[in-house]
Amino acid sequence: MRKTYQFRIYPTRKQTIKLLHVLAMCRHLYNDMLHDRKTAYEDCNCGLSYYDQQRWLPFADYQGVYGHVLQDVLKRVDKAFKAFFRRVKSWEEPGYPRFKGYGRYDSFTYPDVYGHGSKLEGAKLILSKIGAIRIFQHRELEGKVKTCTIKRDGDQWCASFSVELPDAEPVVPQTSVGVDVGITTLATLSDGTEIGNPKTLDKYDSKLRRAHRHLSRKKKGSSNRDKQKVVLSGIYRKVRNIRKDCLHKASRTLSDTYDLIIFEDLQIQNMVKNHHLARSIHDASWGMLISLTTYKAEYAGGAVKLVNPRNTSKECCICGNIQEMPLSQRTYTCPSCGSVMDRDHNAAINIKKGGCLEWQQWKL
Ligand SMILES: [Zn+2]
Repeated sequence: MRKTYQFRIYPTRKQTIKLLHVLAMCRHLYNDMLHDRKTAYEDCNCGLSYYDQQRWLPFADYQGVYGHVLQDVLKRVDKAFKAFFRRVKSWEEPGYPRFKGYGRYDSFTYPDVYGHGSKLEGAKLILSKIGAIRIFQHRELEGKVKTCTIKRDGDQWCASFSVELPDAEPVVPQTSVGVDVGITTLATLSDGTEIGNPKTLDKYDSKLRRAHRHLSRKKKGSSNRDKQKVVLSGIYRKVRNIRKDCLHKASRTLSDTYDLIIFEDLQIQNMVKNHHLARSIHDASWGMLISLTTYKAEYAGGAVKLVNPRNTSKECCICGNIQEMPLSQRTYTCPSCGSVMDRDHNAAINIKKGGCLEWQQWKL
């Protein structure tokens, strides 16, 4: 299994200039390669593959950038195209891969084997063509490091390492739980426990709105506008970190307490198009809760299962009666067996039932 560690790095002024140079070069390469693919496709209806593009790489002039980092850029272009064709095939709204504008390309990766181009030594991260950057490594790396990605986040930088860990022996589940994710509470468990959203987020709501308002009043292209952009991205980072912290804690609790954790398969749910921004933010944090719980559970020998979300909130968990449940209705009142339950709790129990059933069939 893969696991990612992220640490903040503290480049000097000179190193920052070099990092920004690499980002700019990678962005240019990305856009060039995208352009080549596009024209090849439009002019002669032929596709360019990763290998076609890679052959051209030695002739390109990208001074100050490590060769493998450039190869990774080509892989990103390739990935963007493969995802595009997959979407075309599955009749989703395709959306052609986009050119990356300034500020829209914020990371580059040292791929392949760790030690080629990037290396950790003491409190320094040594990057080929950049130098030794001070790093704050708040925990030890476990497993074999596969890739190292350098990211810019507003005025800060961080390094994330993807490591390969051996899979733990799966245990026979003794304890299982169904989890219903929601908007007012982050998650409701089948035993009735609720995991709330972090309260501090409300405070940042007004801060964000104010920062956006300030930004819109600054003149385009002015240095004041650039400064305000940094302020804004700082607030976004803060919000993201609070949310991430909360998700880490919730997933830790789940994976420590239960062997088999069952969620709804959100990808199926997402097929119903939704344009609300707030909703998409929730979608993102639900997805993250599931992926964090998955790797923590796997690490402990447990498992996460996803079940089809069909009827989980419409069905009575006691007698199986099905009725319409508009979102505003917070309580499930069953006309056929008379049980009265919290809407999300009822759904969580149905999710658990569905998952356990699938689990048993899967074992047979
Ligand atoms: Zn009932």
